[in-house]
Amino acid sequence: MTASDPNCIFCKIVAGQIPSKKVHEDDQMLAFHDINPWAPVHVLVIPKQHIATLSDVGPEHDALLGAMLGLAPRLMKQLGVSNGFRTLINTGRDGHQEVYHLHMHVMGGPRPWARG
Ligand code: AMP
Ligand code: ZN
Repeated sequence: MTASDPNCIFCKIVAGQIPSKKVHEDDQMLAFHDINPWAPVHVLVIPKQHIATLSDVGPEHDALLGAMLGLAPRLMKQLGVSNGFRTLINTGRDGHQEVYHLHMHVMGGPRPWARG
């Protein structure tokens, strides 16, 4: 496991070197508002450890992935989203992943949305 990548923008957010609008933090995860939201509420849930993509996880990450997914509905409730939401993980080049630190988009709020 690589704990952190000094060139990774999300590792810098975890380290507090780049500001973010945090909505959740615990030992293993961070959640913050996407800087370019597609929806009225658009947050990213990331592991604190540097994992580049969903293709890089193994069985040892099952609990972490479960925790990330389980956080989504609690966050949406906390942020006032009451009518459903989308979860999305872009993986690799063909998955249109732009930031190579695993992250789950969680998007909600009244439509229309800019995308998605
Ligand atoms: P993708 O890798 O395509 O799944 O998406 C990366 C997401 O990260 C995009 O929605 C960006 O708007 C978002 N993003 C990039 N840099 C930042 C940042 N500094 N703070 C918050 N969100 C960011
Ligand atoms: Zn990283």
